[in-house]
Amino acid sequence: MSHDPHCIFCKIVAGQIPSKKVYEDDELLVFHDIHPWAPVHVLLIPKLHITSMADLQPEHAGLMGRMTVLVPRLMKELGVTNGFRTIVNTGSDGGQEVFHLHMHAIGGPRPWLKG
Ligand code: AMP
Ligand code: ZN
Repeated sequence: MSHDPHCIFCKIVAGQIPSKKVYEDDELLVFHDIHPWAPVHVLLIPKLHITSMADLQPEHAGLMGRMTVLVPRLMKELGVTNGFRTIVNTGSDGGQEVFHLHMHAIGGPRPWLKG
């Protein structure tokens, strides 16, 4: 399924739910987390509905590579100069709450206090 009409992040991709966008291209969307844990907390998502990291296939390697490589560039643009955390929660035991694959990128002072 490339788009799940019940998925909150697919709705953000489709513009049906507002978000504070940081970056967008054909394949990826980045927006601010609605409940930030630190001064900078963004979510990177593929526009394609992939439920979780557990569902990644070999053909997603390029997509995930581009997503990963984007993180340091965006952190720099958002003023993060002293390091950051990246987190991908996967499945129920992994603490995943939104079942559309996303990578948290969290920066600013002491982001580990709430994670
Ligand atoms: P996870 O536990 O990794 O699935 O995290 C889901 C994240 O999505 C949480 O940090 C939420 O604060 C965030 N979130 C949920 N709904 C929205 C939304 N409409 N806009 C931005 N972030 C959201
Ligand atoms: Zn989705």
